[in-house]
Amino acid sequence: MKALTAGATIGILGGGQLGRMMASAAAQLGFDVSIYCPEHDSPAARVSASHALGAYTDIEALLDWAEGCDVVTYEFENVPVEAAKALIDAGISVRPGSQPLEVSQDRLVEKSFLRDCGIETADFAEVNSAEDIAEPLNRFGGSGILKTRRDGYDGKGQVRLETGDDFEAAHKALANAPCILEAMVPFEREVSVIIARDAVGDMLCYDLPRNEHVNGILKRSVVPSNLNEDVTKRAEAAAEALANAMNYVGVLALEFFVLEDGTLLANEFAPRVHNSGHWTPEACATGQFEQHIRAVAGWPLGPVTRYHDIEMLNLLGEEALVPPDVLSVDGVLTLYGKREAKPGRKMGHLVRRRS
Ligand code: AMP
Repeated sequence: MKALTAGATIGILGGGQLGRMMASAAAQLGFDVSIYCPEHDSPAARVSASHALGAYTDIEALLDWAEGCDVVTYEFENVPVEAAKALIDAGISVRPGSQPLEVSQDRLVEKSFLRDCGIETADFAEVNSAEDIAEPLNRFGGSGILKTRRDGYDGKGQVRLETGDDFEAAHKALANAPCILEAMVPFEREVSVIIARDAVGDMLCYDLPRNEHVNGILKRSVVPSNLNEDVTKRAEAAAEALANAMNYVGVLALEFFVLEDGTLLANEFAPRVHNSGHWTPEACATGQFEQHIRAVAGWPLGPVTRYHDIEMLNLLGEEALVPPDVLSVDGVLTLYGKREAKPGRKMGHLVRRRS
């Protein structure tokens, strides 16, 4: 695919806040954005040049929509693999492709792929019924997390387990779905690598944020993470290996647990811009949304120089309903335009400079 020029149309599968922020960045670079998603009134469609409503499984509608796009990307990892493959088979450029979806949608496949790339993860075991839990849980030292292989996000689809718990009930709470059991990791901190890879394979990593989760949901990212240089370099090298293994084009986030002794265990990756990178537009020469658009448009990456120390706070549920002048008094406020503030729902974020 030739590099796109201003006026070209970038198609985005998905209508959430990530699509909204990608669309705004694309508009600034002179592109039109067209959103495809099944939801009416989506945050992304409301800031884009055009949109089409349709199911991701409606291949005919998808192909129809994609005819008007010069390249197609996605803003969430649960786009059906078949949808991406159908577009590719029809000759449409889909960046970053279908493999990142295939790998990241299933925790068992994902963890195995990370290991194949030479990236360490927590110990894990496949669980198809409650009987599969006792042996690995014992082997992991008696505590672990049962996670559905598919469709879990923001701490959903997970149950913490200890030896002696009712495994039947735990698996039932996850609808007896195919799962993995992960060893509980006694991490000292969590960090992520936000990496961008362009169409010719050049890569850049943003400074690593340190991430704080509450109930499995990201609450705060702080930069710098104050990790030592050796650990930082190892984390970046892992993200580079992962991006190369998939011939990835765009922005990707790889999340890590960091142990006291500097051991890095990858938790998961997101084949898209990431919540823990929401501070980059305010703190860096090129923000992650612009960076992703540059990459999928076939442009060279922009510099990721960070100008100052920064923190990003997620506004969940009703937190985002506080008057904006209170929230933004010493920071930059972004609200996603969601019409309903459900508890725990990501409604916006606040980026504050740290001195
Ligand atoms: P996940 O949905 O896998 O990203 O998990 C959400 C959050 O739950 C992580 O960011 C951690 O804070 C916590 N968590 C997940 N897996 C583990 C684990 N194996 N050990 C300890 N904490 C975990």
